[in-house]
Amino acid sequence: MRVFSIPMRVRFRGIAVREGMLIRGDAGWGEWSPFLEYGSRESLQWLRCAREAAAGDWPAPVRDRVPVNVTVPVLSPEDAHALVARSGCRTAKVKVADATATLADDQARLEAVRDALGPDGLIRVDANGAWDVETALTVLPLLERAAGGLEYVEQPCAAVEDLAIVRRRTNIRVAADESIRRAEDPYRVKELEAADIAVLKVQPLGGVRACLRIAEDIGLPTVVSSALETSVGLAAGVALAAALPELEHASGLATVGMLADDVADHRLQAVDGYVPVHRPEVSEEHLARCAAAPDREAHWLARLAEVRAVEKDLPS
Ligand SMILES: [Mg+2]
Repeated sequence: MRVFSIPMRVRFRGIAVREGMLIRGDAGWGEWSPFLEYGSRESLQWLRCAREAAAGDWPAPVRDRVPVNVTVPVLSPEDAHALVARSGCRTAKVKVADATATLADDQARLEAVRDALGPDGLIRVDANGAWDVETALTVLPLLERAAGGLEYVEQPCAAVEDLAIVRRRTNIRVAADESIRRAEDPYRVKELEAADIAVLKVQPLGGVRACLRIAEDIGLPTVVSSALETSVGLAAGVALAAALPELEHASGLATVGMLADDVADHRLQAVDGYVPVHRPEVSEEHLARCAAAPDREAHWLARLAEVRAVEKDLPS
């Protein structure tokens, strides 16, 4: 086992340093990197994903590369245009409703992104649950106009019940992201008919095979997304996107660049809008460079021990 600590290039989700543990098995390394605020019960799902990876127990891929979106944070229109044009991606995910941006800022950024993508590109917006129902219904048509069409809106409101209302009252498709954090959540989204699209992340949902099962059970188009993993963890998300029978939407897997370093020699990075389907090799040199300080290593070992204790107490 190895504990890593890698600075983020830009603070994201309030995270300045990404930490986690790599666990080695017969097939190679798996990543266990539950966010620090996650409790032991939730973190056990993340551990199952790491074990599955280490055991090499992934389903066979049905494609050898996965289309990904470029993510556009709150930037000036000029910078957003340049970022999208440079990415080579045909789908852009644009952050909207941020506390640091006005509606006019969001509209200007969307116009710039459309200009960079051209008429055939797809634009999805992510509000991270910022709006109430009425605000969502007022703002969405304006954003749709600025963007020249939206593929979908991700998590317009925080509550899954509100997603269901927005979905019924707009023609824009709704994706559930934050509403899906635990294994039972996708079924709740389905039951409430709260979304047209489910964003699935392999670590919180317990691994590649667990996500494949969920996708089949809920019968919704799936967007595979990362949880800000290193290339090792990201490979599990890529394995899911590669194994899904249908892959209608670009995945949110172009994220390793948000970390300033990596445990792999050759990062699992997008080229011309696609991430290749393969498991990157971990390099000892990179591992050493990304090694966490002794106190953080102790923290992660203690965390792992707690999760294992919870697991032992579970009814089998
Ligand atoms: Mg999101």
